[in-house]
Order: sequence, then C-alpha cells, then structure tokens
Amino acid sequence: MSKKPQTVRGMNDILPETAASWQFLEKEVENVIEAYGYRQVRLPLLEHTEVFRRSIGEVTDIVEKEMYTFDDDGDSLTLRPEATASMVRAGITHGLFHNQKQKLWTVGPMFRRERPQAGRYRQFHQFDVEAMGYEGPDVDAELIIMSARLWERLGIDKIRLEINSLGVPESRAGYREALVEYFNGVKSQLDEDSIRRLDKNPLRILDSKNPEMQDIVAGAPIMMDYLDEASAEHFAGLRALLDAAGVEYAVNPRLVRGLDYYSRTVFEWVTDALGSQNAVCAGGRYDGLIEKLGGRSTPAIGWAMGVERFVSLYEACGGQVPTVMPDVYLVAVGEGTQERAFALAEELRDGIEGIRVEMNLGGGSFKTQIKRADKSAANYALILGEQELSEGCIGLKPLRSNDEQESIVLDELASVLKGRLSG
Ligand code: ATP
Ligand code: MG
Repeated sequence: MSKKPQTVRGMNDILPETAASWQFLEKEVENVIEAYGYRQVRLPLLEHTEVFRRSIGEVTDIVEKEMYTFDDDGDSLTLRPEATASMVRAGITHGLFHNQKQKLWTVGPMFRRERPQAGRYRQFHQFDVEAMGYEGPDVDAELIIMSARLWERLGIDKIRLEINSLGVPESRAGYREALVEYFNGVKSQLDEDSIRRLDKNPLRILDSKNPEMQDIVAGAPIMMDYLDEASAEHFAGLRALLDAAGVEYAVNPRLVRGLDYYSRTVFEWVTDALGSQNAVCAGGRYDGLIEKLGGRSTPAIGWAMGVERFVSLYEACGGQVPTVMPDVYLVAVGEGTQERAFALAEELRDGIEGIRVEMNLGGGSFKTQIKRADKSAANYALILGEQELSEGCIGLKPLRSNDEQESIVLDELASVLKGRLSG
C-alpha cells in the first residue's frame, strides 16, 4: 500500500494520551450524574430511521441533511445522531414509563454528516441525562444544578447558562403566526434555508447559523410575549429554584434549539473559549415526545453534553489530567527469573489494589531493562537477578529520587511496596 490509510472524514481516532483525558473526565461526569440517582442505560447505535424522523422533526438540520441512513434489506436504518430519541424508544419498548418515573443516563458516539471543523465532527460523543415522568420545574432545576456542579468540581469557569421557555404547542401556534408575519415582511433578505422553513418550521429560522441572518433574527418577535400562563409559571418556578441554588443564568428569548420535540424549558451552556463551536451542553423539556413515539403521555426533560467540547473546555480553563504511569517496572535478568517475575507480578496485582505493574517484555541486558524502566516513568524498578532469586529477595530501586536501592525479602515485598506507594 503506497498511501497510508486514513479515517473517514470527520471521524477521529482517540489515541492514548487523549483517551487518558477522556477516561479521567468521563469518570468525573459519571460520578456527578450518579450522585443524583440517575441510572445508566446502554443503547444500540442503530435505530429505525422513523425513530429520529418522528422525534427530531422533518424540517431540522439533522433530519434534512445530517443523518447516516442506509437500506438494510428493505429496512431504513440510521446511525443515531443523538440519544434522546433512542432513550425514549427504549423506554416505550420496555414499558419503563408505565406509571413509573425514570432517571436515566447514557454515553457514547453520535453521528451527524456535518462540515467537519474544530469542535464539530461526524462521529462525536455525548453524555446524555434524561428524567421521565416529572413535570417540573424542580427536575428542570435539578438537571441544571447537576451540570453546574460538574463545572464547579472541575474548575470550568469559562461557561455561562442561557435559558428560555418555548411554551406548549398551543401557545406556540400564536407565536408561530407572528413569526411568519414578521419573516414574510423581510422575505427578500432571507437565505434559502430560511425561506424553505418559513412555511414548514419558522421557529427553526431563529436557530440559523448564517451570520447574515443574525440582524433579521434579532428583530423577530419573542416567544416570552406569547407564553401561556401555566408555562410562564413553570418558567418562574425554574428561575426561583436556580436563584435559590445560586446558579447564574441569562434568559435568552432567541434560544429555540435545533430539534422539534422541545416544549417549555430549554437551556444551553455556552462558552467563548472554543471559537464558534460555543455550545457545550444543551437540553430541554420534551413533554410531547413520548406520546408522539407511541407511549403514554409522559412529561420529560434531559440534556446532552458533547465530550469533545467538554474536554477542550476543561483544558482551556487550565484543567490538568493526572498522568497515569506504572508504579513499578519489573526487571528480570538471568536463568529462571522471568518465570518467577511473572508470578510475582500477579502476587502484587492480587495484594495491592489498583497497582500498575509493568513487566519487562522481550528480554534484554540489565542495562537495557533499566533504561526501559526509566523510560516507562515508573517510580520504582524491581530487580530480580539470579542472585536475588537464590537468596529469596528482590532489589527495589527508586527511579525518581537519589535514594539507595534496597533489598527486600520476596515474602514481604507486597507489604513493603504498599507502604512505599502510599507514602
Ligand atoms: P450546535 O449548535 O453546535 O450544532 P447542537 O444544538 O446541534 O449544537 P445538540 O444536538 O444539542 O447540539 O447536542 C448537544 C451537544 O453535543 C452540543 O452542545 C455539543 O457540545 C455536542 N455536539 C453537537 N453536534 C456536534 C458535532 N457535530 N461535533 C461535536 N460535538 C457536537
Ligand atoms: Mg447542530
């Protein structure tokens, strides 16, 4: 092969150094989510195309142009572009919402055929947290407070919260009318996408990413003026809970989100630290979706966070990832030493919870093995030669200090090492 094989455009390999950051941060996110009593589910990457078409909506960027859809023997299947639709589908499939409330989360890859650029990929990853069966606004507040806790724990400060309410379908109808009237008045200035959306989905125009549309969008009527009383009360309830919890936010009346299923609360955590890809975590309420997909009418709300943007933001805020290196590197030189070293490595892994033991593999002289030990970044080399073996002991050589090498009785190695590693 003359040319190196490449990944599919917009799909990334996550190599060990980056993966280490992901592992560290994913653990943090999981801990926070589970501290609120949410339980993990794992879902397929493929769904019947209908699941996304019906939930996300026909006239949305995702369904119109971003889905990876293919025919599988007469079935139209799609790689999931987001997780909420799959979660809802799973809940209906297994009857999870029958007279029950659910607090669920998942994490994994999502697929959208977008124009790849920094922070925007065709395979990306999301954490997804959803609560079904709660009318709110207490659960709305809880989900936002949960995300705020995450930023706080990790020292992520270049982030701010925007919230809005989209009301219910009935109140949105009046707003929709007002929007159509307004946009019709400036129709000659609308771009192609917006003109197409004018009849089918005028709210979507507010979500336009085209900079030339920004001024027109800024002059549009706002949903807040059309909100029904119950939604206004719900929104006030959310604001009061956020205020009490000390979570700062701005009400952004233009925030509509790019998916059709939202109702009432929508929110977005945005940052200025990542260029134009400014949304890190976003979500909202989707009270009509479960029924629309064939379940019983059940209120629900959730958020999704892009892992790539989250990791970048953590770094942009000065976040450090603890480096993971072996605790000990096991050097074995001479007749019969490798066999004993293998057994010893297992004993250490049995005896010291979480220890990272790196065995010297591929032989080599004492000098070569010590060099490898040094390069491994381990704190200690354990040195087993023929003489040590015959005496039932092993050399413990500190690699990152000038302390002397010690000789340790093999039977006591685990307990001595435990002390050294914790000290
Ligand atoms: P954007 O406005 O940036 O297109 P979105 O509104 O389409 O985002 P959602 O569908 O709400 O995004 O997904 C939630 C989160 O997933 C986003 O806030 C972002 O962090 C992440 N995300 C969405 N699309 C991508 C992508 N193509 N590449 C990387 N991350 C993404
Ligand atoms: Mg998008």
